[in-house]
Amino acid sequence: MIHSLWMRLLLAFMLVLGVALGGMSFLASRSTTTEFHGFLERRTEVGFRRFLEGVSRYYTENQGWSGVQVFVERGAQLTGDHVLLADNSGTIVADSDGTMMGQPVGRLQRGASVVVKGTKVGTVYLNPGRDPGPPPGQAPGPAPEVSGAAFLTSVNRSILLSAAAAAVLALVLTVVLSRRILRPIEALTAAARAMERGDLAQRVPVKSSDEVRELAVAFNSMAASLARNEDLRKNMVTDVAHELRTPLSNIRGYLEAMRDGVLAPDAKTLDSAHEEAIHLSRLVDDLQELALAEAGQLRLDRSATDLADVADRAARALGPQASAKGIGLSAEIPEGLPPVDIDPGRIGQVLQNLLSNALAHTPGGGSVTVGARRAAGQLEVWVSDTGSGIPSEQLQSIFERFYRVDPSRARSTGGSGIGLAISRQMVEAHGGRIWAESDVGRGSVFRFTLPLAGSQGGDGRPSAARSRKPSGVRSV
Ligand code: ADP
Repeated sequence: MIHSLWMRLLLAFMLVLGVALGGMSFLASRSTTTEFHGFLERRTEVGFRRFLEGVSRYYTENQGWSGVQVFVERGAQLTGDHVLLADNSGTIVADSDGTMMGQPVGRLQRGASVVVKGTKVGTVYLNPGRDPGPPPGQAPGPAPEVSGAAFLTSVNRSILLSAAAAAVLALVLTVVLSRRILRPIEALTAAARAMERGDLAQRVPVKSSDEVRELAVAFNSMAASLARNEDLRKNMVTDVAHELRTPLSNIRGYLEAMRDGVLAPDAKTLDSAHEEAIHLSRLVDDLQELALAEAGQLRLDRSATDLADVADRAARALGPQASAKGIGLSAEIPEGLPPVDIDPGRIGQVLQNLLSNALAHTPGGGSVTVGARRAAGQLEVWVSDTGSGIPSEQLQSIFERFYRVDPSRARSTGGSGIGLAISRQMVEAHGGRIWAESDVGRGSVFRFTLPLAGSQGGDGRPSAARSRKPSGVRSV
């Protein structure tokens, strides 16, 4: 319980609150006491000085101390002090309490002199019982009266009560607020537990606009990606089985037909069976490559490479296929492009895959172009065709493994449905991005970016952007 976030939040709030309220109460109480003492001292000092003047005026007017008791009593009533007045012989002639009249001053040594025309005529003692030190006017004043102490006690009590009430209110608010703060986290925990049990459809509500919202958004996107991967994993097994079954059953069919004498084991039949075996092994190779790439274990042999060379090689490899279909295949690689930091073999594979897809989906008489340009500190490479195009809602999905826009054409194009998935992994392994743009019925453009090799001087713009045909590639 003590380790729960809620409890720790609560304790943290209470600690901060305790320190704040305690500190505030202490400082408020201390400054009230100091200010109040100062006020009392100032008030007593002024009052006492006036009283002394009054006493000396009394002496002048009455030529002595007779009847001064009433005057002293009245003065003492005004201030609430105990006042004694002694004559020059040290005998008490007035006592505001009326108890020490006629007695000698004795040990009450420190009083304030009453002076008339430069001559001392008596001494006034203030609060003799409490003896706070030197009398007013000569040094720090007397201690505050009893009512002052009571006042201070009551002020301090009020401060304490207010602090206690604030603490209780804060405790209630803390409980309510911490519960509110933690509610989305509890929802996240519940959703995560449900996901652990296999319910990947769990999502949490995204309400607030703080860090918890970001956590909820991140959680939801993680859950969506897990669900998607789980779907892909499930589909993968089915897809792989399906993909392997077709060439295998074809090979089996050829072998059985030859064994039963239905087909002659001539070169044509053997070629067909061989083609199926090649397709099968290409599929297995692709799958292994994809698995490696998805696990981030693809080994890249990178070096500063001129993309024009890689594009030339890829186009040359696909040249015969293009000519056979009557498709014009050309390259538009401007001269002076900076070298890219790539594994030429892997990027060549990407280009061949894109070119072969383009040729497969472009009717005779169409054209396929490979091009490149410098864009935003990278090199953007594209393969465009004038083929069938891809519906926009499928442009994202085609990069997923085994995805085919037209499943019925599955193997008629010879594709395994993982070419683009591998291409994406390879481009991303280079730190690039791949995407497709398309216009159904008019053609598609596949683009990907590649990092430039090291830092290049100049702006990297091609000095002479001209269209050129790679050697060995024929336009039809
Ligand atoms: P495949 O091996 O089947 O070609 P890919 O992963 O290379 O698999 O491509 C996935 C799907 O994307 C293809 O089945 C095809 O439907 C679609 N596709 C890829 N390139 C093009 C293109 N240039 N024009 C039209 N459709 C394309």
